[in-house]
Amino acid sequence: MKLKLLSHDASDLAVVNAARVSYGKQVEELGDSDKKLISYLLRNNHGTPFEHGYFRFHVEAPIFVFREWHRHRIGHSYNEISGRYVELEKNFYEPAANNIRKQVGKPGHYEYITVYDPEAADMIFVAQRTAWNYYQQLLERGVAKEQARTVLPLGIYSEMYWSCNPRSLMHFLTLRTNQDAMKEIRYLANQALGYFQDCMPVTCDAWVNLQK
Ligand SMILES: Cc1cc2nc3c(=O)[nH]c(=O)nc-3n(C[C@H](O)[C@H](O)[C@H](O)COP(=O)(O)OP(=O)(O)OC[C@H]3O[C@@H](n4cnc5c(N)ncnc54)[C@H](O)[C@@H]3O)c2cc1C
Repeated sequence: MKLKLLSHDASDLAVVNAARVSYGKQVEELGDSDKKLISYLLRNNHGTPFEHGYFRFHVEAPIFVFREWHRHRIGHSYNEISGRYVELEKNFYEPAANNIRKQVGKPGHYEYITVYDPEAADMIFVAQRTAWNYYQQLLERGVAKEQARTVLPLGIYSEMYWSCNPRSLMHFLTLRTNQDAMKEIRYLANQALGYFQDCMPVTCDAWVNLQK
């Protein structure tokens, strides 16, 4: 799985100036009072100054990860490769034998325990390859890609462009870097968090403090 920042226009300064325009003020550099202002805005849910900016990412992940990702609607834009128009690649999510998870506990309080289970890993591998073979056979028979793909599993990889603004990114990170989030989306969300930290260190620190 991969997440890469392609471009961005997002900065702590843009947040501060969006907020300070209310009083007809602008600053060239961040001062201590501006850092406090960012923290104040976040703590008090003054969200709009965090909407002036964007991050544009390229993401490669299995469909079961994208399915969760695309539930984030507000302030997010997506464009994904189309299985109607191109033959998908033979690229599957294949957990190693020592990376199989068991779900224990009750709804709302599930825990995931990583175990060594080579048979389970093998079942995932074989099921995906079997589905892939049928996909190929359907294409060879002339079945349209949009219909042949219906036999493919959620573990097949896809790719997308994902753009969002700092406010929508923070909402995504709050939900998807959380321990309750699925491990695979959490892994990619933590990479997005790294880019957020690089581009907007003050806002990121204030956001991290809010999570405590
Ligand atoms: C740990 C976890 C488990 C989950 N489990 C499930 C599950 O079992 N089943 C399932 O279906 N989903 C599940 N989800 C997905 C979840 O319900 C949300 O769809 C997803 O997290 C996106 O959140 P959001 O709606 O806040 O984000 P966005 O769609 O980006 O919306 C951002 C904010 O805008 C506002 N908003 C957006 N749309 C509306 C609207 N129509 N009306 C009013 N306000 C709106 C809300 O304040 C919302 O928080 C899960 C998510 C997580 C993190």
